[in-house]
Amino acid sequence: MNLPVRTELAVLQPIELYEAQAVPVDLLRLDLIHPVISGNKWFKLSKWLEKAQREGKKGILTAGGPYSNHIVATACAAAEFGLPSAAIIGAEPTAAGNSTLREAAAYGMVFHFVPRSVYRQYKTDLAASGFLADDWLGIPEGGQGPEGVAGAASIADLVPQRDEYTHIVCAAGTGTMAAGLAVAATPRQKVIVISSLKGEDKLSTAIRQSLPPEKRENISVHTGYHFGGYAKHPQSLLDYMNQLYRLTEIPTDIVYTSKMIYALEDLLKNHYFPPGSKILAIHSGGLQGNRSLPAAALIF
Ligand SMILES: *Cc1c(COP(=O)(O)O)cnc(C)c1O
Repeated sequence: MNLPVRTELAVLQPIELYEAQAVPVDLLRLDLIHPVISGNKWFKLSKWLEKAQREGKKGILTAGGPYSNHIVATACAAAEFGLPSAAIIGAEPTAAGNSTLREAAAYGMVFHFVPRSVYRQYKTDLAASGFLADDWLGIPEGGQGPEGVAGAASIADLVPQRDEYTHIVCAAGTGTMAAGLAVAATPRQKVIVISSLKGEDKLSTAIRQSLPPEKRENISVHTGYHFGGYAKHPQSLLDYMNQLYRLTEIPTDIVYTSKMIYALEDLLKNHYFPPGSKILAIHSGGLQGNRSLPAAALIF
């Protein structure tokens, strides 16, 4: 398969978040592999797209919110594979004017806008929507499902000496990437999951359910770093993102990676990681989401 992304651009960047940081951290820059099919989205989609090819599907139907990174990534990836795409969007039709959906439409994606109440059902049961043609492949919201987990597990293949790390730290929405990283982890590695959702055990349950029993113990989900809820971005978060950029030149997104790095810094400062730890943090991309902000909000 000819890859539309350049995984060799995903460098490992050592980062120092504050002066007395005692534990080394390497950041895997998945944000660099492609300008549109950003970060973890490519990996979660890859096995779904292989399935579409294998089964001779004629198009891709997926689901997402109106600012979803997954929607843009799917639209672009499907176009790269020569497949038409459509998406069920849980929003009013006026959302079609926002920059995320305009970009997806430019890749040929067609939208079905549905009220949020029914979206909740359709996002993982695409067939129930009536929009899924027999010869199209349905990809659940965020690329979740066994194919998404298997694809996310291949993120670990990008990391030389990956067994040296004691902890892998990542952001989570559906938890599909986290589950994939847990599948790829050795029994001695811990996967530290920073939830972007407000106060939920649901995420932890969802991740554990998608894992074989022997992989469930290595996961620890942290729910105290959502900054007010999913996609909420108070000024304090924007200030943190700008400060991080000044210090490290690493751009982050308002929904996932900024909260993940903030959490990582907080855990480091609270000596959460024992001496001798070595941390792999995943920059899962998602920078397009920042376009919903006013132009002057961020310095990058
Ligand atoms: C979609 C996304 C996530 C969440 O991935 P899940 O597999 O749904 O948990 C994390 N980070 C970024 C940047 C994303 O775009």
